[in-house]
Amino acid sequence: MIELKDIETAQETSVFSQISEFQHEQVVFCHDHETGLKAIIGIHNTVLGPALGGTRMWTYASEAEALRDVLRLSRGMTYKSAISGLNLGGGKAVIIGDSKRDKTEAMMRKFGRFVNNLNGKYITAEDMGMTTQDMAYIGMETKHVAGLPESQGGSGDPSPVTAYGTYMGMKAAAKRAWGSDSLAGKRISVQGTGHVGGYLIDYLVKEGAQPFITDMDQERLKRIAANTKATVVGLDEIYDLDVDIYSPCAMGATINDNTLQRLKCQVIAGCANNQLKDETVHGPALVDMGIIYAPDFLINAGGIINVYSEVKKLNREWAMQQTEQIYNTTLNIFAMAEAEGIHTQAAATRIAQKRIDDMAKVKQTY
Ligand code: NAD
Repeated sequence: MIELKDIETAQETSVFSQISEFQHEQVVFCHDHETGLKAIIGIHNTVLGPALGGTRMWTYASEAEALRDVLRLSRGMTYKSAISGLNLGGGKAVIIGDSKRDKTEAMMRKFGRFVNNLNGKYITAEDMGMTTQDMAYIGMETKHVAGLPESQGGSGDPSPVTAYGTYMGMKAAAKRAWGSDSLAGKRISVQGTGHVGGYLIDYLVKEGAQPFITDMDQERLKRIAANTKATVVGLDEIYDLDVDIYSPCAMGATINDNTLQRLKCQVIAGCANNQLKDETVHGPALVDMGIIYAPDFLINAGGIINVYSEVKKLNREWAMQQTEQIYNTTLNIFAMAEAEGIHTQAAATRIAQKRIDDMAKVKQTY
């Protein structure tokens, strides 16, 4: 017998109820029997411009998980571009599969043809599980691809620009917390010393901060520690450190019920996406604890700003100047959050949504 709760569960997970929850414009399911391609392209919002966001290839446990990921990530791109003043909408794509085992040239090019069929409504770029070579294959079938290496006329590695934006956001948060944006002498824990984390640590060391670093990649960790004199700490130990600033630069959801009880910092500012496990719970919880949180999608927007410079044929100098604005925007968001009695992530989302709503009105007339 089918019980009411089963029907409710089915409704909650139905494709259209999820699309409706996230308010997407279009979700495209791409399938090709020959190459084994199974991809989902999420186009969240194109009020400001074409939906731009990377393609991620991942071994999702289920198709439902892949759909959830693409919906969440593409919505994040909408807000990231909107708050950064870019004329871009939000999109993202996921390919279901093992990037090391299942990927072929034919699969990538087939995916490129699906992207091409959208006629520029979605522009793709590199994300987890994809390589420069994959993007080159996709680029053989469509011109709607960005974030290519400089040798192919693209804007190159976005990580240094992302790191600069994160650094600017961190300085703004320091100003809010201590009245000065200087990071000299500040104890800063950095979780993840990858592409962005590595450049960020350079900025911190240059300014005289005292970094504490951790990473799963022990070799990389040792190399960075040797070059910068940063202190190496354990993967789990990082949450218990007595530091001024915690900077999540690896995976998302590290601010959760478990870690919140352990964190002793006054500021959180890092480049990882989706740092708050549950925005509605952990955003307000940080306010209650007196921790200043620099919204992730705002301070890690340097990468998308860099890709935008490629789409609009601008240069890296422009991208760096634009990224520097993150400092002022972050300060404005702190002020707005306080004035309106909301948490900082909510304030950032509100500002991004307002820009989209305002521009939708502008576009009402020819
Ligand atoms: P990356 O893969 O180069 O680096 C991530 C590092 O984190 C790796 O060295 C990895 O070993 C480490 N790591 C993974 N799990 C860990 C754990 N549990 N504890 C400690 N370290 C761990 O990635 P990246 O390009 O530096 O990006 C870092 C984060 O920033 C990601 O969340 C990414 O989505 C986000 N981001 C990156 C950019 C960009 O321009 N690269 C832009 C916006 C957002």
